[in-house]
Order: sequence, then C-alpha cells, then structure tokens
Amino acid sequence: MINFNVPPFTGKELDYMKIAVERQKICGDGMFTTKCNEWIEKQTGTAKCLLTTSCTHATEMAALLAGIEAGDEVIMPSYTFVSTADAFVLRGAVPVFVDIRPDTMNIDENLIEAAVTEKTKAIVPVHYAGVGCEMDRIMEIAGKYRLTVIEDAAQGIMSTYKGQALGTFGEYGAFSFHETKNFSMGEGGALLIKKQEDVERAEILREKGTNRSKYFRGQIDKYTWVDFGSSYLPSDMNAAYLYAQLELAEKITDARLAVWNQYREGLAELEKEGRIELPVVPKGCVHNAHMFYMKAKDLKERTELIDFLKTNGILAVFHYIPLHTSPAGQKYGRFKGEDTYTTKESERLCRLPLYYGLTEAETSYIIDKVKEFYANQKAL
Ligand SMILES: *Cc1c(COP(=O)(O)O)cnc(C)c1O
Repeated sequence: MINFNVPPFTGKELDYMKIAVERQKICGDGMFTTKCNEWIEKQTGTAKCLLTTSCTHATEMAALLAGIEAGDEVIMPSYTFVSTADAFVLRGAVPVFVDIRPDTMNIDENLIEAAVTEKTKAIVPVHYAGVGCEMDRIMEIAGKYRLTVIEDAAQGIMSTYKGQALGTFGEYGAFSFHETKNFSMGEGGALLIKKQEDVERAEILREKGTNRSKYFRGQIDKYTWVDFGSSYLPSDMNAAYLYAQLELAEKITDARLAVWNQYREGLAELEKEGRIELPVVPKGCVHNAHMFYMKAKDLKERTELIDFLKTNGILAVFHYIPLHTSPAGQKYGRFKGEDTYTTKESERLCRLPLYYGLTEAETSYIIDKVKEFYANQKAL
C-alpha cells in the first residue's frame, strides 16, 4: 500500500529530542526553539519569527495583533482549510469569501477589490500547494484601502514569489509544521512578523500576556502580567524534532521536487490529450513541491479514479469542501460575487501521494496506474 502521506523523518530527530530532554529544558523557548526561529528568519528574511503550537494559532495571533474585532470583514478564498477562517471567526469577524483562479487554485486577485467594504480590515491570501498568490496586486489593493495582509503560508515554506519568501509580504505570515507539511514537529507552526514594533506585543501574547520573554533575555528582573494573551509556544522537544528537518531543508525540498517533476512529466501526455489538467506554476513563482494534484473531468470521474487507485494499493485524496458550503461557513461567512471555479474545481481535484521518501519506482507505479485508468475509460 502506498500511503498518501508519511511524516518526514530524517534520522537526527531523536538525537535532538534527547538533547532537549537532557538539558532539562523541555518547555517553550529553549535552545531548539531559538535555533528554529533564527533559521526561519535567515531563510525567509522576516524581521522576526516565533515558533507556535500550530499554524492555526499563528493566524489567531495575527488576528489579535491586527486588532480584528467583532463585525470586521476579512477577505479570503473559500477554497482553503478551516483554520484560515476560524482564526477570524473567533474574534467575531466575518469571512468574506471570493472565488479562486482555476490555474493555481489561489484567490483571484482581480476579484478582491469588489469585495472591499467600509468594514473590511484584512486580506488573507492562501498560498495553495506552496505556489504564491499574486502578491504585487494584493499588496497594492491593501495599500489603497489600508488593509492588513495576513498570509496563510501554511504550505509555503521555501517558496518564493518574485524572489521573496512567502509569508513575508504581509504584516504577518503563518507557517504550519503539522505532520502533513514539508517539515514537521507533529503539531506546530510559526508566526512571521514584518514590523519590529509588533514583536514585543507578539511575545507577550504568546506567553499568556506576560513579559516573560524579556525576563528570559535578562532585560528585566521579574516578569508580570502586562496584557491579554494565551499560550502559543510549543515544547522545545517538538522544536528539536523540527530543527533536524530544517537543517536538511534543501535536501527534503529537492527530493519532493524530484517526485513532483516526475509526476508532471509522466502525466504530461494525458494533459496534452485533454484528459486531465495539471498544476500551473506562474512565472515568478518558485514552489516547494508541497503537493501534487491533477484534475479529473468531474466529480464522478474523480471518485472512480480514487477508487481505482485504492484497489491498486494507492491512497489518493481530495480536499477542500469549499468553506462557504459548509455549515459553519454559512453561519459565519458570506460569498462575494459568483462561485465560478471554487466548487467546480474543488470537485475535480485529486491529490497524489507525495512525501519525503516516496521512491522513483513508487511514483512510476502511480503514474502508470493513472494512465491505465484513463486507458480503460477510453475503452468504455
Ligand atoms: C495545514 C494548514 C493549516 C493549518 O495548520 P495547523 O498547523 O494544523 O494549524 C492552515 N491553512 C492551510 C492552508 C493549511 O494547509
């Protein structure tokens, strides 16, 4: 059986976790957390990175830092994971969903402006599959209407748009290190902060509303409760697991890209024949091979394809159910404009297995089975 995902494991994770345990410093903001923060700052060029307990929590922090309040509107795609909306709904804000582009499955930058109202406070682009949204246009709209940009870059570590790291365009960016992402710590994430003046408040927010981070650095001699906050810092054991992978980030990314390219080439003929559609990476975008997807003709064909692959020992999956069609999405949000692509494209999309360690032979086998499925279809 070829799994859809296998969590990344490079070999040094357990050694590093052992070091964290032996240092008798397993709570948050220990040595490995600092190493991860600094690695991400160097890699992305962000002013500040704070490791968090999840990408969802990093986005919640961004919503708090941006001062999102009840009744505010936040523009985002409907084709995304629930966390993108949850972080704002928790503040009483209204997610305003706009349609996606069919080529990248990212928010259609040309539909954002029409969704702006007097209540709009933020735009949340989601870099689907680690392929950048049209950030030039999005930042231009944000500037014109004075909106905060919070990037859901959960899938976007190591990816760039016009040479700049995803997650560093907006005031805030959020990465995920869930076990399904390119680099993992089980559950975890990171908040990227663009402006130095936000850093102190972010540290306080993450440490239960205290100035403990300052205390740890020896800047004050006791710490106290200074503002509202929560507990958004992960254990250093988890950070140790992640750091082993960050050290090998290039190697992991190259291995993923090799699988991605093999799929792309192996399925090119089916695309040329008009049987399927393959992902588009626009000029100016460098991606991290977070995901390989293909699009079947429609929902029925996709269901048959996933079943066929399953009977051949391959676990392929689909996602997302568009948020505006879900019970919570209908309760808390609204869709602005026409749903031309969100539902239609989401029903066609099929994700093929892609993880660190998937072999060339396995990828080959999967490609052959997809081709066999379409050869059978033709015969019918
Ligand atoms: C994975 C993911 C999240 C959530 O990440 P967690 O770390 O599990 O909170 C949010 N948004 C997108 C687009 C994701 O892919």
